[in-house]
Amino acid sequence: MPLSSLKIVGFKSFAEPTTLEFTQGVTGIVGPNGSGKSNITEAVRWAMGEQSAKGLRGERMSDVIFAGTQLRPALNLAEVTLNFDNRDRALKMDQDTLVVTRKIFRNGDSEFYINKKACRLKDITNLFLDSGLGKASFSIISQGQVEAIFNSRPEDRRTIIEETAGVHQYKIQKDAALQK
Ligand code: ATP
Ligand code: MG
Repeated sequence: MPLSSLKIVGFKSFAEPTTLEFTQGVTGIVGPNGSGKSNITEAVRWAMGEQSAKGLRGERMSDVIFAGTQLRPALNLAEVTLNFDNRDRALKMDQDTLVVTRKIFRNGDSEFYINKKACRLKDITNLFLDSGLGKASFSIISQGQVEAIFNSRPEDRRTIIEETAGVHQYKIQKDAALQK
């Protein structure tokens, strides 16, 4: 289920609307320090449901909105759209393409969309939970995370393996059922 394109508007250093198209094979993104490479992977994680502002190197979630520079005023909205090719039906939706959009406004309001229809954050996280692409999965490995895996407690390492194996979502559902 390849990510075919990514559109970023007002997210972190991306003040100008920016579209990245991913063709078959491996894509490498190169650039000087501070040019926004990590911001691209963070945009992907954010649109897929990241809920931790700290995990995005911020204090509050609205810190992801372009904060302005000496030459450009700050923006009031950050928006990221991911286009997935779902012809292999890796995501449990009967559609060939899947478009996931997340927006956040300066006042903290958020909006989420699946295929342009408004939805909840939970719908997005559920969509990815069992695909091996969930926000806690290791399909996206940020700087410093490799050390974190080596140094993690055995229980946490087990969670990583369970998510990869696709059984983690059943554990979450079981825990939720037991709490009722
Ligand atoms: P490195 O090679 O050092 O890992 P990088 O290419 O991964 O660098 P990023 O960490 O993606 O760089 O980008 C950092 C830049 O993003 C910094 O210049 C920072 O000021 C800018 N930035 C982060 N958040 C915002 C924001 N909300 N508004 C404007 N700029 C931001
Ligand atoms: Mg980086």
